Amino acid sequence: MKRILVIGGGVVGVTTANALARLGLPVTLLEQSVLGNGATHANGAQLSYAYSDALGSPSVLRSLPELLCGLDPAFRVHLSFDPRFWSWLGSFLANCTAARFNANTLAVLRLALQSRASLAALSARHGDLAFDHCGPGKLHIYDDKPKFEAARVGMTLKNAFGLEQRALSAEEAIAVEPALAWTRRKIAGAIHSPNDEAGDAYLFTQSLATIAAREHHLQILTGQRAQSFIKEGLRIRAVATPSGLVEADIFVLAAGCDSSALARTAGVRLPIFPMKGYSVTLPASSISPRLSITDARAKIVFCTLNGRVRIAGMADLGRYDVTVEPDRIQQLMADAKYCLPNAAIWNAAPHFWAGIRPMTPDSRPIISATSVSNLFINSGHGMLGWTLACGSADLLAALITGENPALAADFSLRRF
Ligand SMILES: Cc1cc2nc3c(=O)[nH]c(=O)nc-3n(C[C@H](O)[C@H](O)[C@H](O)COP(=O)(O)OP(=O)(O)OC[C@H]3O[C@@H](n4cnc5c(N)ncnc54)[C@H](O)[C@@H]3O)c2cc1C
Repeated sequence: MKRILVIGGGVVGVTTANALARLGLPVTLLEQSVLGNGATHANGAQLSYAYSDALGSPSVLRSLPELLCGLDPAFRVHLSFDPRFWSWLGSFLANCTAARFNANTLAVLRLALQSRASLAALSARHGDLAFDHCGPGKLHIYDDKPKFEAARVGMTLKNAFGLEQRALSAEEAIAVEPALAWTRRKIAGAIHSPNDEAGDAYLFTQSLATIAAREHHLQILTGQRAQSFIKEGLRIRAVATPSGLVEADIFVLAAGCDSSALARTAGVRLPIFPMKGYSVTLPASSISPRLSITDARAKIVFCTLNGRVRIAGMADLGRYDVTVEPDRIQQLMADAKYCLPNAAIWNAAPHFWAGIRPMTPDSRPIISATSVSNLFINSGHGMLGWTLACGSADLLAALITGENPALAADFSLRRF
């Protein structure tokens, strides 16, 4: 039986290792630190199935001068001399047409819907999968009429795809989520996605790994960094780690933002670039929002998770480091208090965090075979890795084993 090594123990690596081990395959998971410690750790917690919108769009293109000049507090672009940055940016700009935006958004939507089904099946199989899962739905609020109208057009596209979303007036939005009565934002309109869910991705990753080790004999090696692939002819024989070689027959790269550097050691180029974001977690107040809220102006999300409120946002393109920068966290806190003044107990001890999203130029994850016959990729999930993890894992397992050709054929997979 073929031995499989999955590299990277974030939500994508753990779901992938579980999907393969469940099929009875001998799987080892290699993680350089602790499971779920990367971008997965304190993300926005949204299972945002309905909001699959690609980052590259005509409206982003129009606001590019503003973004490059640093006039949008939510975005920062760190210009670099690295040619890979310019190649990524060129490809991103090519994806900002209306046609590419629609195609990329719908491709991610298909994967998101597959993920919703995959997570439901996983939860049904394992009653002890614990991650503060809740299904409150989501409200996207807009203070700008033209942007709200553009969102309505996107909603119509998704409705045609069978997705339940509806447009609400300010009064209707407040009726659905009373916490909005205190907002200082002028609400021009809101998009309600009643079937969106939420859950703690870190707890999920830890819990699923424990279950997979117990029930499917998944072997987990933490504190082991993959340094490079060791090739033999056209195949990979092993990965080098500080404590020696780890051999396998099939390798799956799921190392988030580190995937492109590692893939290069096997001669494979992946267009993945980091986009840094921040979160703060605080105790919930008695009037914290029940639904997940996205403030389209500040581009921040609020989510109440079992007595805690997680607020996440900021998009700093080109930053690989995960230090919590005081000015960015202050901006996040100021935006959050302006949008929902009663969302949390602000004077309680906050947990501040920063992480880096693995972004592709077309906002579609790379779930793929490669030019190296025994190397597969499951990475580049960008802003939606938690949402897309379970479907991506099933898809990659189908691709490797050939066990579910209908699922693999249903998605247009690219080869790298
Ligand atoms: C602020 C913020 C908010 C977000 N909010 C949401 C949200 O609300 N909903 C949503 O769906 N998504 C959200 N995301 C995106 C989501 O968190 C990511 O897309 C997702 O976590 C990516 O998972 P991953 O497993 O690919 O990467 P990671 O979680 O980064 O995992 C990669 C793992 O690989 C390990 N690794 C790296 N290199 C090596 C190596 N050489 N050897 C061994 N191990 C290695 C790392 O230690 C890490 O544990 C958010 C992200 C951020 C930053």
